Amino acid sequence: MAIKGRIHSFESFGTVDGPGIRFVVFMQGCPLRCIYCHNRDTWDVSGGREYTVDEVMEQVKKYLTYMRSSGGGITVTGGEPTLQAGFVAELFKRCREMDIHTALDTSGFAAVEKVKELLEYTDLILLDIKHAVDEKHKEITGVSNELIKKFALYASEKGIPIWIRHVLVPGYTDSEEDLRLAGEFIKQLKTVEKVEVLPYHNMGEYKWEKLGQEYKLKGVRSPTAEEVNRAVKILEGKQ
Ligand code: SF4
Repeated sequence: MAIKGRIHSFESFGTVDGPGIRFVVFMQGCPLRCIYCHNRDTWDVSGGREYTVDEVMEQVKKYLTYMRSSGGGITVTGGEPTLQAGFVAELFKRCREMDIHTALDTSGFAAVEKVKELLEYTDLILLDIKHAVDEKHKEITGVSNELIKKFALYASEKGIPIWIRHVLVPGYTDSEEDLRLAGEFIKQLKTVEKVEVLPYHNMGEYKWEKLGQEYKLKGVRSPTAEEVNRAVKILEGKQ
């Protein structure tokens, strides 16, 4: 029987999740509970709709010209795509056969043994480093960062290019000391090509309200461009 994946939604012309124009697949289900999550509606593992790899590839093929001419490809994000590692591995395998660039946008919260096959077919990892300090990581995501660190080190050992992403939330993830610690960890990874700092925004707040959930960051401001640039420099070890 064909493997199925539970998918929240698709985006045909993504331009922010990897190089070029990308077909973006938002997988359903996430084991993290980030207090700033802007995709709160992707958490429930039983939400979304089931698709076969063939069904997703039918969608992907419609945008091949745009992907190829722009140096783009497919990005699988979520939710947390490694929760459905078997399905995503199959999807990426099919993309590899068609020479389509594959990017995995992940928190890295996955046991290495479970994602080995998936990483065989992954051309780029967009890795969210949420917090370097475990206790604070638990406070903002509900889980430890131990698995994430192991995942990142494994990906680096495998030689898979990594783009680091860090959401900068004033008062939560922007202290100089914490950013330096994150920078020290990033330095251990040999394949980091880019460090992106994403400014926190409250555009996902309405999704929490729609689900009757309390949004803990009410009133927290977005960081300034200057603060974002400073954070990039610290994470890159240049300041
Ligand atoms: S990992 Fe992503 S989808 Fe999951 S809770 Fe955090 S921000 Fe939301």
